[in-house]
Amino acid sequence: MTPAPESGRRANLLDFDLEGLAAFCASLGEKRFRATQLFRWIHQRGARDFDQMTDLAKSLRDKLKACATIEGLTVASRQASADGTIKWLFDVGGGNAVEAVYIPEDDRATLCVSSQAGCAVGCRFCSTGHQGFSRNLTTGEIVAQLWYAEHHLREQLGTRDRVISNVVMMGMGEPLQNYSALVPALRVMLDDHGYGLSRRRVTVSTSGVVPMIDRLAQDCPVALAVSLHAPGDALRDNLVPLNRKYPLAELLDACNRYLQHAPRDFITFEYCMLDGVNDQPEHARELIALVRGHGGRGVNCKLNLIPFNPFPQSGLTRSPHSRVAAFAALLSDAGIVTTVRKTRGDDIAAACGQLAGDVQDRTRVGERIARQRTVILKRAPAQAEAKES
Ligand code: SAH
Ligand code: SF4
Repeated sequence: MTPAPESGRRANLLDFDLEGLAAFCASLGEKRFRATQLFRWIHQRGARDFDQMTDLAKSLRDKLKACATIEGLTVASRQASADGTIKWLFDVGGGNAVEAVYIPEDDRATLCVSSQAGCAVGCRFCSTGHQGFSRNLTTGEIVAQLWYAEHHLREQLGTRDRVISNVVMMGMGEPLQNYSALVPALRVMLDDHGYGLSRRRVTVSTSGVVPMIDRLAQDCPVALAVSLHAPGDALRDNLVPLNRKYPLAELLDACNRYLQHAPRDFITFEYCMLDGVNDQPEHARELIALVRGHGGRGVNCKLNLIPFNPFPQSGLTRSPHSRVAAFAALLSDAGIVTTVRKTRGDDIAAACGQLAGDVQDRTRVGERIARQRTVILKRAPAQAEAKES
C-alpha cells in the first residue's frame, strides 16, 4: 500500500504490513529499522499511542503524531459464552458491524476474523449471506480484530505471552472477494515482528473464488479451507450461488494447484449438514466419488462436517446427530479423514454463519439489521426451495 502522509489525512498504521510501514517510514526520511521498531510496538506490545514508544526519539514521536494514527475498532458489544468463547461486535461505521470470535481449546486458541461487512455470495444457509453486502473491510480493520483481541486477552489473563495461536478467516464475508486488503493483513499475522503465526495456523476459508485461490498460492500461501456443502453442481448452485460461476470441476482443479504451494498437504473441505438437503447416504457416496476421483487422482483433503447453525430466516434445519454420524462414518470408511465440528458459543450465537450482529447494542447496527430482516422476510418464500432440492 502506498502511504500518503502528505495527503493531509493521517495514515492508520494498522493498514500496513511491514513492507508498507517501511515505505511509509522512508517517505518520512526514516530508516527501515524504525519501521521494524514501530511494527513491534504496535503488534507485539499492543501500543496504542506513540508516547508509549520510549525507545523512539521524541522528535520522531512528534513527527508520527502529526501524520499517523494507530486506530483500532470501536467495540459495540462483548459476549462471553459459558464455554469460554468470546464474541466481539465491532462498529465499523455507517450502521455496519462485524464480529470476531475467540475460541479457546486445550491445545490452541483460535480467533475467527471477519473480512467484509455482509457478503455478496449469498449462501442459503448463512446469516451473513442473508444480510447482503455492505462493504469490504480495510486491512487495518481486519488486523484490528486480532490486535484488539490479542492485547485485550493478554491484559485480561495477566500475561505477556501470546494468547491467540490460530486465525481462521471464517467470520463475516468472503475473504477472497476482498483480496487486496486480505493479503497485507495475512502478512501482518505471519510476520515474526508481528504476530509470528505459522502459515499452517492461519486459514483462509473460501466459498470458491477460483482465480483468487491461484493468486493466494503465489502471494501468500496459508492453510486453505473450501466450503463445499454439496457433492454435485446442481445442489451447490442452489446453496452456494458462486458455484454457477466457478463450478466444482474448476474449483477442485484450483485446489490441486493450490496444494503445490500450500503449507499443508491437504485442503479442508467444509460441509454444512442441512437436514434433508445434503445429508443423505447418496450425498456421502457422491462426495467420496468426487474427492477421490476428480481428474483421475482426486484431491488430498480432510472433510469437516459442520452441523448447521440455524437462524430463523433460513427456512433450514440442522441434520440430526445420528445422520451426521452416519455421513461421517461413510466418509471415514472410504479412508477420508473426517471431523465433525464442535459447536461452540451456542448460547451467544457465535457459531459459524450466525454472525449477523444479532445483539443488543447502542449503535445503529440493530436498526439496520432489523430493516434487513424485513427485507429478508419479504423474500422468504424463495428460501423454501433450498429444502426441497
Ligand atoms: N465466506 C467464507 C468464510 C466465512 S463462512 C466461506 O464461505 O468459506 C465460514 C464457514 O461457515 C463456511 O464454511 C460457511 O459455509 C460456514 N457457515 C455459514 N453459515 C453457516 C451456518 N448457518 N451453519 C454452519 N456453518 C455455516
Ligand atoms: Fe458469504 Fe461465506 Fe456466508 Fe457464503 S458462507 S454467504 S461465502 S460468508
